[in-house]
Amino acid sequence: MPGSSRQIATALQRLAVFWRASQWQVFGAAGLNPTQGEVLLRVAARPERAAELAALLGVSQASLSDTVSALAKKGLVVRRPDPDDGRARRIEATAAGHSLAKRIPEAPEALFGAIAGLGDAERGALLRSLTQVIRSLQEARAIPVQRMCVTCRYFRPHVHDDAAAPHHCALVDAAFGDAGLRMDCGDHETATAEQAALAGARLLAVG
Ligand code: SF4
Repeated sequence: MPGSSRQIATALQRLAVFWRASQWQVFGAAGLNPTQGEVLLRVAARPERAAELAALLGVSQASLSDTVSALAKKGLVVRRPDPDDGRARRIEATAAGHSLAKRIPEAPEALFGAIAGLGDAERGALLRSLTQVIRSLQEARAIPVQRMCVTCRYFRPHVHDDAAAPHHCALVDAAFGDAGLRMDCGDHETATAEQAALAGARLLAVG
């Protein structure tokens, strides 16, 4: 492995350790373990089907069911029939769940501060590179599929001349820049493997 790859992997590992320690602290103060906290934040953002949520988090459905039951006992989530599929159920945050979720930061404040210290171009380049790393891990089936622009059938990378907003979302018919690349979009629809590979290659090749 090239030296720079090892250094980047080490840097990511340092961030992961920091993030995990921070999660234990923040979620622990809210009376939750990290998995419960992650589930609560996700369903507070939008209701999720159990199977899809388990896949996103990379846990078994049985494990997710235990977590949801624990959150339901605390009065933070409920299981309801999915309005789009009568046979499925989705998990929703209760009013108490929404209230608690609002008080939990999505990520460590110190990390937001450090990222905010970067310039716009640096943030955009970092997001683009991380998107590609995550997509490669998805392709290798090392992590579950995430709802990112680069794997979305609506994503059109580098189709506009505007350097500040070269990409296009065909769903909302709008241009956006690297800093707008989404890591978890509720409107995401999975592209074919060929489409995703082309989009990923174009995203990296240009700019
Ligand atoms: S629908 Fe969401 S994930 Fe897909 S291209 Fe648009 S912003 Fe990106």
